[in-house]
Amino acid sequence: MEEIRGPNDPAPEDLEEDELAPDDEMPQLPGPKVGTFRIPLFDLHKQYKDICDEMSMTIGGLIFMAQFVGGEYLDQFEANFAGYHIKRYCVGVGSGTDALWLSLLALGIGHGDEVIVPTNTFIATAFAVSHCGASVRFVDVDPKTYNMDMDLVEEAINTRTRAIIPVHLYGQPCNMTDLMALAEDRNIPVVEDCAQAVGATWDGQRVGSFGATGCFSFYPTKNLGGLAQGGAVITDDKELADKIRSLGNMGRSSHTDFAYKGYNSRLDTINAVFLKRIMSRLQTWNHNRQSAAFLYDKNLEELGAVKTPYVEDKATHVYHLYQIQCLNKNERDGLRGYLDSNRVSTGLYYPIPCHKQEIYKFEGGNYFPVAEELADTLLALPMHPHITEEEIDYITHKIIKFFS
Ligand SMILES: *Cc1c(COP(=O)(O)O)cnc(C)c1O
Repeated sequence: MEEIRGPNDPAPEDLEEDELAPDDEMPQLPGPKVGTFRIPLFDLHKQYKDICDEMSMTIGGLIFMAQFVGGEYLDQFEANFAGYHIKRYCVGVGSGTDALWLSLLALGIGHGDEVIVPTNTFIATAFAVSHCGASVRFVDVDPKTYNMDMDLVEEAINTRTRAIIPVHLYGQPCNMTDLMALAEDRNIPVVEDCAQAVGATWDGQRVGSFGATGCFSFYPTKNLGGLAQGGAVITDDKELADKIRSLGNMGRSSHTDFAYKGYNSRLDTINAVFLKRIMSRLQTWNHNRQSAAFLYDKNLEELGAVKTPYVEDKATHVYHLYQIQCLNKNERDGLRGYLDSNRVSTGLYYPIPCHKQEIYKFEGGNYFPVAEELADTLLALPMHPHITEEEIDYITHKIIKFFS
């Protein structure tokens, strides 16, 4: 228990339930003061409760019409999503992982090829490469932005490099000016992993619209979360779009002909209708996340013990996660335990970088100091579009108290 205490706090075993409840001069924990109430890391219930009524009618209608796979409602969502990114084509697929994987397959990537991936990412980015039969070439990340270090990307390029996957991690775009210059010079396709950054911009342009394809996830906790698994690929390349659609639709080229050994990876119609409906809220939701981040930044500004997210001048960050960086693992874990005992949920993304996973130990390098340090020092604070100022004040007050 030693390591989860703030330096001036009594040992947790001495605390009574009502001592845990905040006292008068502190920002109050909203909601019931006792019992099991916590500030969650994200809150899908708040996000969707007002959509529930209108959607249950729509879903009832879809069931009545037996519209489950494909059809005009899927087409409408795809057109909207492509339009939002000023792209010609959008193909709905089964998940964000599939969006990446089918993009790579459509680009003809397979055995003997190498694809460059940052090691600080969700493991699915690497899996998309592995499931094509290609090798993952990990690179380290920038200590300020936590995104792929473009100098290291340049060093990692060799004659086997067939694609680069920038991951716009935690909601912050990669430096797409530098990356596109590098890739275009060498004719290497860029497949953007936008799973955490829908709506974020680099130099005024939305992520996903720079590369050969942009890949999105509609997993329920993402910034544009669907009502089931789902994903999408956007592109201006008709051939790529057609091939990705065919690969995800059993490899069909017509009702009776199969051009590829394809897969079953589609965006469900019900999910597409839901996503089309909530797309009108995406800008507001992302804006709310930015306001929440601004308040966290302001409240934690004076505290030297933690670093708040750095945002590049050309980037708009959509804060899929709000990550603070502690000085070391001990302080990070101590703070995490302290917040937990004060009913504040936190998360670790990602405590074991991809290259340190057993399954990737022998692939693509083995020492990436920045990613390894981030694994030990980053802490994700509660972040979602409906988090309140009171909740943020309470959380930051506790953080400051822990370090005082
Ligand atoms: C969530 C995520 C994925 C995978 O998306 P799924 O829809 O869960 O398959 C890929 N890359 C990153 C960075 C993610 O956060």
